Amino acid sequence: MKLKIAFLLLLLAILSPFPVQAEIRVDADFPGGNVKVESIDQENNVVCVRPDLRDTRGDYFYFYFRVAGAENSTVTFKFPEKSTNFGAVGPNVSVDGGKTWRFLAEKDYLTSGTKFPAEQHEFTWTFGPNDSDVRFAFGTPYTQSNWDEFMAQYRAREDVRFETLCRSRSDKRDVELFRVPYLGQGKPRFYLAFTARHHACESSASPVMEGMISFCLSDAPEAQWLRQNAEIVFIPFMDKDGVEEGDQGKNRSPHDHNRDYVQELYPSVKAFKALIVKESEGAKLVFMDLHAPSIRGGRNDFFYSHGPIEMKKMNPIWNRFRDKLAENQKDGTLKYEPKWDVPGRSEGHNSIKSFTGKNGNLSSSRVWVQSLPNAYFANCMEFGYTLCGNAVITPESGRELGRNVMKTLAEILKEDGAKEQ
Ligand SMILES: [Zn+2]
Repeated sequence: MKLKIAFLLLLLAILSPFPVQAEIRVDADFPGGNVKVESIDQENNVVCVRPDLRDTRGDYFYFYFRVAGAENSTVTFKFPEKSTNFGAVGPNVSVDGGKTWRFLAEKDYLTSGTKFPAEQHEFTWTFGPNDSDVRFAFGTPYTQSNWDEFMAQYRAREDVRFETLCRSRSDKRDVELFRVPYLGQGKPRFYLAFTARHHACESSASPVMEGMISFCLSDAPEAQWLRQNAEIVFIPFMDKDGVEEGDQGKNRSPHDHNRDYVQELYPSVKAFKALIVKESEGAKLVFMDLHAPSIRGGRNDFFYSHGPIEMKKMNPIWNRFRDKLAENQKDGTLKYEPKWDVPGRSEGHNSIKSFTGKNGNLSSSRVWVQSLPNAYFANCMEFGYTLCGNAVITPESGRELGRNVMKTLAEILKEDGAKEQ
């Protein structure tokens, strides 16, 4: 009898037009995850969240969380009202566990030019019957698994090296170093070093680095010339712990990885400095550090380059770089508008001193590289998270831009190399 009742109850539950609603669950327990859950109103489907700031000084905007148990319902996600929370096309959404992404207001923007309102602090999402793992993020997340997936195509090549720069500060992880070794005779004339993620959350820089790598390893004449004339290293995650743990990273206390070039608090900065000084000896040193800017508006919705502080030595090269990049990227998806570039400042070697005086012994990577006697060109570029001109940024358009950035650098070095001969 008891069994019969249980069976009937089960049948009723299955056939009921009002299925038992599961509990909405929100978490960030995966690589790159970041959220602080303030409250979940299960009755009204309202979730209040905010970015988890951890050791960030001041406010910051990176978040990346997962929602489960919300199938067949519409949920409102509320963020703090005091600041701008989302980029120009709103939060980014993935319904396949973080594999592919689409910005919430992308369609609106592309069809009518309407941006996600800067003053809007909430959004809603309707979960389908199979949406058991839906993710929301500020930009497009990029962690070690993305790097491993992209780099798999190069694992079997004999003319590259997968190395480790050092262990991360937590000693839990390797800090990757990818090397494209010099193939010429004698010593290389150029030494090229590229870094990304000094600021952990700045994920839009990473596909650009992928594009730079793919250009270096391509059959393009400039790429072949590069491999015959330069030793090239890439460090994809300067703040490896921060990337995997989902930290903001920017303005980390007491200072972040890109203000550590005097104090060397972080093992990756210490190891990178030693590597560059040792390996670039006798070669002309070229360095580029890849970043992402702020939330939205003005130059944040483009990509741009920072002018040098070593004006006399590097400003002419920087201007050639800008002209050539405009040419190389003119048919690219992401429009380059050089007017957004930040002009150089004539501070010369004293800039490290001026950082020291004001901010207590802090220096950024490019300022430090520019102070080295063999520095030929050192630059920092910032790639927006969501929008570039009238295009929505995707990993593919980032890679396309990266290929052209590397092509531009290679063209300049090839021209200069030819002049010396
Ligand atoms: Zn940055």
